[in-house]
Amino acid sequence: MIEADIHEIDIVKAEKTKIHDVDFDNINFGRIFTDHMFLCDFIDGKWQQPQIMPYQAMSIDPSARVFHYGQAVFEGMKAYKDNNGEVFLFRPEDNHSRINKSSARMAIPEFPKEYFMNGLLTLLNLDKEWVKPGVGNSLYIRPFAIATDSAIAAAPSSNYRFMIICSPAKAYYTGKVRVLIAEKYSRSADGGVGFAKAAGNYGAQFYPTSLAQAKGFQQIIWTDANSHEYLEEAGTMNIFFRINDKLITAPTSDRILDGITRKSVIQLAEDNNIDMEVRRIKVEEIKEAARNGSLKEIFGTGTAAVISPVSAFEHAGTTYEIPDLDDSYAAMFKKQLLNIQHNLSEDKHGWRYPV
Ligand code: PMP
Repeated sequence: MIEADIHEIDIVKAEKTKIHDVDFDNINFGRIFTDHMFLCDFIDGKWQQPQIMPYQAMSIDPSARVFHYGQAVFEGMKAYKDNNGEVFLFRPEDNHSRINKSSARMAIPEFPKEYFMNGLLTLLNLDKEWVKPGVGNSLYIRPFAIATDSAIAAAPSSNYRFMIICSPAKAYYTGKVRVLIAEKYSRSADGGVGFAKAAGNYGAQFYPTSLAQAKGFQQIIWTDANSHEYLEEAGTMNIFFRINDKLITAPTSDRILDGITRKSVIQLAEDNNIDMEVRRIKVEEIKEAARNGSLKEIFGTGTAAVISPVSAFEHAGTTYEIPDLDDSYAAMFKKQLLNIQHNLSEDKHGWRYPV
């Protein structure tokens, strides 16, 4: 961890809020931002004075390394408001440790925890009005770090900028999704950056995902790059399979993101006495289970959609439909997680973090 002096944050408040221009019932995800943003520069081997200022465009030199080499990492987290107007985060310290793991892999200096938590809490307190109560409403929070050196040399930057921006959100996907199991393209490889929230991991998925979307699928389930025989995760979600009453998910590795929703669901499975296996899972096993009727559910887990049930998957040109279920684990976990996030139920694992 790089040393940093703990400074108070320099705050310049917005003269006037933009909140009255926003139609909170019709929100297009990720396009509207709150009144303020957090910013901290890394210069001369040190994180500088953290700042909060009105949300605004900024000027960066065209040679900045982020534009040329994709030296950038990010996080995705949410704030929720309960019926009494209290705002909560969900396991935010895990987002902090994950962005530092991502940064280490991308040769970006780690961001001190005090700066992260203090910046986050101060920003949220300023923009609290933007967090709307009601299950399904949230404020999506995007911390990120970029390489800002003005130099096109292919080497790590000396200067970086760490920022946090926030965007009001409703539930991300609606309804069930149809997914395509990857046979040709890969998301990540052994020794690569799949476990990191590195910007390039996402940009590289856009093309294969657009091909899948043209065929009527919303998402790709990625398989291992070596054999394409093992199921790994989706583009922004970890993935769970229910065979009869047993739940299975792939172990995290250097190819798979250590999802916070994933580990929460693994814990909830234990709390609900559900048989949970964390192990590698073959495409063939799922196809066989779909054929013999023992495949009850597939669902994705991630901050954006919480739980995203899958209605069908395709592999090698064959589509397998997954019939609806009355006692779905996906629906149960979604309810339990939303209730914890919105302060509607007991939080026995201490996942809620008051703002
Ligand atoms: N996998 C990938 C590749 C992701 O980008 C995300 C979203 N962060 C997830 C899984 C889910 O992680 P989390 O539950 O922490 O949002």
